[in-house]
Amino acid sequence: MAASEVFVDPVVKEIVGKARSMWGVEHALSLMGWDSRTYMPRGGVEERGIARAELIVLRRRLLLDPEFVRLVEKAEDSYEGLNVYEKGLVRVLRRRIRIEGSLPEKLVYERARITEEAVAVWEKAKAKGDFEAFKPYLERIVELSREIAEHLGYEEHPYDALLDLYEEGLTTRRVESLFDAILPTLKAALEKVRSSGYYPERHPLEEVEYQVPVMDKVNREVLTLIGFPWDRGRLDVSAHPFTISMGIGDVRITTRYEGRDFRHTMYAVIHEFGHALYELQIDEALKATPLASGVSLGVHESQSRFWENVVGRSMAFVEAVSPLLRRHLGFLEGYSDEELYRYFNIVRPGPIRVEADELTYNFHIYLRFKIEKELIEGSLRVDEVPEVWNRLMEELLGVKPRSHSEGVLQDIHWSSGAIGYFPTYTIGTVLAAQILYRYEAVKGGFYEAIRSGDFAAIREYLREAIHRWGSTFKPDELVERGLGEPLNPEYYNRYITRKFVELKLP
Ligand code: MG
Repeated sequence: MAASEVFVDPVVKEIVGKARSMWGVEHALSLMGWDSRTYMPRGGVEERGIARAELIVLRRRLLLDPEFVRLVEKAEDSYEGLNVYEKGLVRVLRRRIRIEGSLPEKLVYERARITEEAVAVWEKAKAKGDFEAFKPYLERIVELSREIAEHLGYEEHPYDALLDLYEEGLTTRRVESLFDAILPTLKAALEKVRSSGYYPERHPLEEVEYQVPVMDKVNREVLTLIGFPWDRGRLDVSAHPFTISMGIGDVRITTRYEGRDFRHTMYAVIHEFGHALYELQIDEALKATPLASGVSLGVHESQSRFWENVVGRSMAFVEAVSPLLRRHLGFLEGYSDEELYRYFNIVRPGPIRVEADELTYNFHIYLRFKIEKELIEGSLRVDEVPEVWNRLMEELLGVKPRSHSEGVLQDIHWSSGAIGYFPTYTIGTVLAAQILYRYEAVKGGFYEAIRSGDFAAIREYLREAIHRWGSTFKPDELVERGLGEPLNPEYYNRYITRKFVELKLP
C-alpha cells in the first residue's frame, strides 16, 4: 500500500506533513540513544545529556504548537468519516497531546532532573546494597508519580493513569484479574516441576565458559536462521540488551557477553529479535509518521517473549538450531538435543527478575505490581518497601534475597521514574502464548515450521496479524482484530500446563 492511499483526508494529510518534523526529532533521539548505550566515549555524557534535553523540549513544543493542536482537533471533528489509518493517527496524536499537555512543564522538568540524579544514586546504592541512600529519591519519585496521576486523571485508581502511559487503556483492575487468572496455574506448575525433576534446577552447561568472538558468530547465525535482515539492522554490545528503531529500514539490537552460560546471550538476542521484527514489519506506507512504531510495551513484549520462549525454548527450536550450535561450540559434545532443551529451560526460583525462567518470571512482576499499586494509593510507605519485598519474595518463591542489591534495588525502573511499567511484561508473556494457539488454529503446523527452519511462515503470520498496523489500533483492538478475541489468559495457562505439567509441548 502506498502512503498516498493511506492518508487521504486533506486535514490528515496536513497533519502528517507537520508531524514529520516531530518524527525527525524522534529519529535523532533514537540514534543518539543507541549511540549513548553502545559506542559514545564516556566524555560525551554531559553534552549528550544537554542535547537530549533540548530535543525533548523541541518535540514537546512541536506537539503542543497551537496550530498543530487545532489541526488535530479539526480532524477529530470529522473522525467518523476517516479510514482506520487516519483514525489511528488522530487517536495517537490526541493521546500524546493529552498526556504532554496535561503535565505542567515544571513537573516534567522536575521529574527529568530528579530521575537523572536518581539513576546515578541508584547505581551506587545497588552496588552497596544501601537502600537508605536511595530511599529519599524513591520517596520523591513516588510523590511525583502521584502528582502526575492526578494531572492525567483516572476513573478508579490513580495507578490506572500510570499504567495507561505504557499500555493504552490498561487498568489496575485488569492487571489484578490477569494475575488472579494465572497465578494458581503457575503455582501448581512450579510445585509439579520441583517434584518431577524433568526441568532441572541446575545444569553443568551453566558453568561452561565460551569465547566471545565465537559466541558472537553463533548469535549472528541464529539471527540469520530466524530471519534478521542484516541490510536493515545491526547487532552490537551493551550493558543491558535492548532494541531501538530509527525507522522501518533501520532497527538495531544489542546483547551482552558474560563469558559463561551461553544461553543468556543467545536468548537475549532472540528476545530482541522479536522486538526488532515488530518494528521492521510495519507497513511501509506508515513510514516516518506517528503510526510507525509498535503500539504499546505489552504488545511489544509479546513479540519478544513469543520468539524467546514460545519459539526459542521449544524442543522444535532446539532441533533446528542445534546443528549450528554444535558446529561452533565444541563443549556441547556429548549433550543430546533433549539435554540442550533442559539446559535452555532450567526452572529455578531465584531473587533476580532478569534471570528468572518462564515459570517464575511472573511472580517477580506480581510482587512489583502489588508494591507499586500500594505506594501510589498511599497504603504503603517507601520505608516499608524492603521488608514487604522480602516477605513477598519468600511467600511467592520461597527465596530470601541476601542483600537489597538482589532485592528491592535490583531494577533500574523506579529510579528512572517508570512506575506502572512492570505489568506490561506480564501482558507480553500472556499474549505470546495466545498467539501460539491462534497460529495453530488458523494456520497449523507451528512446531513443524520451526523444526524445518521455516521461520518465514511465522514471520509472515505476525506481520499480517500484528506488525503491519504499527500503532493504528489501540492495543485491545489490535489483539481482538489480529487474534480473533481479546487478551485471554486461558491460553497462557494451557501453554504452561502443557509444557511444565504434562511435559507435552513439542
Ligand atoms: Mg523486552
